[in-house]
Amino acid sequence: MKYDVAILGAGFSGSISALIADQMGLKTILLERGTHPRFAIGESSTPQADITLASLAEKYNLPFLKPLSRYGSWKESYPELNCGPKRGFTYIQHPNIENELLVAASPDNYNCDCHWYREDFDAFLVEEVKKTGVDYFENTNVTLTSNSNWNLQSENVSCTAEFIIDATGGANPLHIPQDNTSIHTNSRAIYSHFTGVTPWGNIHGKQHHPYRCHDSALHHVFAGGWMYVLHFDNGITSAGFILDCDARPNDTWESLMLEFPNINEQFKNAVATLPIVQSKRMQRCTTKMVGENWAMLPHAAAFLDPLHSAGNALTLNGIERLMPLLQLSKQERIEGLNTYQNKTTQAVKLLDKIIHGCYKCFDDFEHLSQFAMLYFVGADFTERQKRSGTETDFLNSGNVDFRNTVDHFYNQVVEGTLNAADIADAIKPWNMIGLCDPSKQNMYDYT
Ligand SMILES: Cc1cc2nc3c(=O)[nH]c(=O)nc-3n(C[C@H](O)[C@H](O)[C@H](O)COP(=O)(O)OP(=O)(O)OC[C@H]3O[C@@H](n4cnc5c(N)ncnc54)[C@H](O)[C@@H]3O)c2cc1C
Repeated sequence: MKYDVAILGAGFSGSISALIADQMGLKTILLERGTHPRFAIGESSTPQADITLASLAEKYNLPFLKPLSRYGSWKESYPELNCGPKRGFTYIQHPNIENELLVAASPDNYNCDCHWYREDFDAFLVEEVKKTGVDYFENTNVTLTSNSNWNLQSENVSCTAEFIIDATGGANPLHIPQDNTSIHTNSRAIYSHFTGVTPWGNIHGKQHHPYRCHDSALHHVFAGGWMYVLHFDNGITSAGFILDCDARPNDTWESLMLEFPNINEQFKNAVATLPIVQSKRMQRCTTKMVGENWAMLPHAAAFLDPLHSAGNALTLNGIERLMPLLQLSKQERIEGLNTYQNKTTQAVKLLDKIIHGCYKCFDDFEHLSQFAMLYFVGADFTERQKRSGTETDFLNSGNVDFRNTVDHFYNQVVEGTLNAADIADAIKPWNMIGLCDPSKQNMYDYT
């Protein structure tokens, strides 16, 4: 069989790419090493992710994708697919849990983002791929050789393809060398799914919270690390500690529960539904992410850290920029692929400084609640631009003034000289929503 495009990896990104390629009239094959349904991490979506998902649905005439871009429409259209509501981003500092930062990212519980229960979400997408007639093979781990075209061989598949998209999330089937040396973030994860986790707001909810504080990506932050807690409607909670490898090399799930009694209280009835996973350092980055006849999606090429839930949005943004290139002439495509690589790299570098800078601020909540505004202003500005039809790069990373602003404050944080009070003025050109306004007292309702 001869294909125009072979996509390796049927996570949400591989399946969405396959659906788009098919709509573009490309003969497409999607190959998955494992099987569906399966557990996957990477669950919390964001406005940037959901706007992109909705826009891909419209642009490529994939109407069944659109309801998945809002919690309310997801529940109405696909009640059988599990998800959870995400009104915004909640940060609680430990042990001083009175230090709180809540940033609403949506106006209400209908029009809010979702936590994707990936087991259901990814399996649903694969079923949609199969319905379109795209060739799909599971349990398939192909060997790749390249002549003018790609040759793909496994026990059950033998085919050629003109173009390969690597959507394997870091498995690196093309064997592209890695180089982590320029990445500042240095973290590892301890995570699983649980039942019996008490919603934070049931114990610590407050009148002045702009939304129920646990209908969110809940971040417990502490010196040297943080923990995410994401609730699904089916009673399952996804939770994980993310730890600075240098600051906390030996901490375990148990030792952290002992260290932080308020987290322990939230988890006192929790039962892991899967073995708890302990990762090594998570950061990875390939030395290149495109060639003449191949490209890696962002999560295949690079990963930093789940802080602020940027991964899925970056990957959807990559799909949006990559797929149209497949229709271009060879020369135009090569230029487009290089631009895709440069823009993805630029976004990863910017995100790395924001994430690493936040780690440096975890023990100083005043600093954290100001420095994190660099993320929120970049995200919000980009969302608004996109809604008004203006293209901006992921997290406003294409804007040199914004990049310089992040660099400026990141360098201060690293040198231990952060002047947090200056951030409000510096972000003014992109700040449409009153971020850094002291009268809000770290409680940002949606505007
Ligand atoms: C602890 C943790 C928490 C995270 N939390 C968030 C979050 O809250 N929000 C967020 O936006 N992002 C988060 N991320 C990032 C998120 O995981 C990724 O953005 C997301 O999984 C990307 O999806 P994907 O479909 O590209 O890749 P994946 O979900 O990794 O799927 C890749 C697929 O490829 C298959 N595969 C692997 N090798 C091969 C091969 N050789 N051939 C064929 N198939 C292959 C795999 O079996 C898998 O099905 C998190 C990451 C981690 C590590």
